[in-house]
Amino acid sequence: MALILDGKAFAGKLREKVREMTSTLMSEHRIQPGLAVILVGEDPASQVYVRNKGKQALEAGFNSFEHKLPDDISEEKLLSLLDRLNDDDKVHGILVQLPLPPHISEQKVIDRINPEKDVDGFHISNVGKLATGLEGFVPCTPLGCSMLLKDYLGDLSGLNAVVVGRSNIVGKPMAALLLKESCTVTVAHSRTKNLADVCRRADILVAAVGRPKMIKGDWVKPGATVIDVGINRIKKEDGTSALVGDVDFDSVQQVAGAITPVPGGVGPMTIACLLYNTLVAAHRINGIPFPADT
Ligand code: NDP
Repeated sequence: MALILDGKAFAGKLREKVREMTSTLMSEHRIQPGLAVILVGEDPASQVYVRNKGKQALEAGFNSFEHKLPDDISEEKLLSLLDRLNDDDKVHGILVQLPLPPHISEQKVIDRINPEKDVDGFHISNVGKLATGLEGFVPCTPLGCSMLLKDYLGDLSGLNAVVVGRSNIVGKPMAALLLKESCTVTVAHSRTKNLADVCRRADILVAAVGRPKMIKGDWVKPGATVIDVGINRIKKEDGTSALVGDVDFDSVQQVAGAITPVPGGVGPMTIACLLYNTLVAAHRINGIPFPADT
């Protein structure tokens, strides 16, 4: 039976570390990290995410600035809010909750965020820095996966890694991070042939697809480390609903060496890494070296 990689516990420890470092930053430099989160519209899932981000930012000792904007706000008004936040010294991290309504260009919005405050790591400048190995901001979900992998496996170099999914927010940055760790990386997607065979070659298998329980036990190499990024809500036979990942947990658990559960695996790491990135931004913007052992 695979070891369960407890993302919830790891994220709790990371948040505690962020809280302690925040307290040091405040006492030694009188700087309080500030995270601004912008929500456009009333999407219930996005509202929950934004509420959690604000709550956890406050618990870490941050300033939290929530901007809830109506669905019909113009693109221009949203861009000018970003200009104000870019200029605001109290704000070190800016996050725009996606998706945005169709009349607003997500690309224009992401482009407008100061890359030094782009704690989601979506700005083209940070994407380029990750691709070329420079120091920037890495998107929170793949950063969380990478922390879990390094904590469990230590040195990843030379391992065969397969990432299923090639989105800009998970699959591609995940592949870039694994390459940076000297893995031999394969990125699979909806056009990949013989996906099960490709997955069976993986020492590290990351599933970021959005298809409930797609990865089965006989797709997994015995002893592999499996990271399940997927969050899918399914209806159960009794009419209630449940959250499941992209990995068929019951069958994969019999074969893998280690596996992240859903919920309680990658999910909690995402917000913890957002806080971590914001703390890093507060240091960098003020020219304070970030302690290396974190
Ligand atoms: P996207 O829909 O943007 O990307 C899905 C990827 O999966 C695409 O590259 C697509 O290929 C590929 N894909 C789809 N169907 C198949 C298939 N049958 N076989 C192989 N590949 C396939 O999703 P995201 O990357 O945004 O998210 C993926 C999952 O992760 C979702 O369940 C999402 O909810 C979850 N998620 C979880 C987060 C967390 O905090 N834990 C954060 C972000 C996302 P192609 O490019 O060819 O279309």
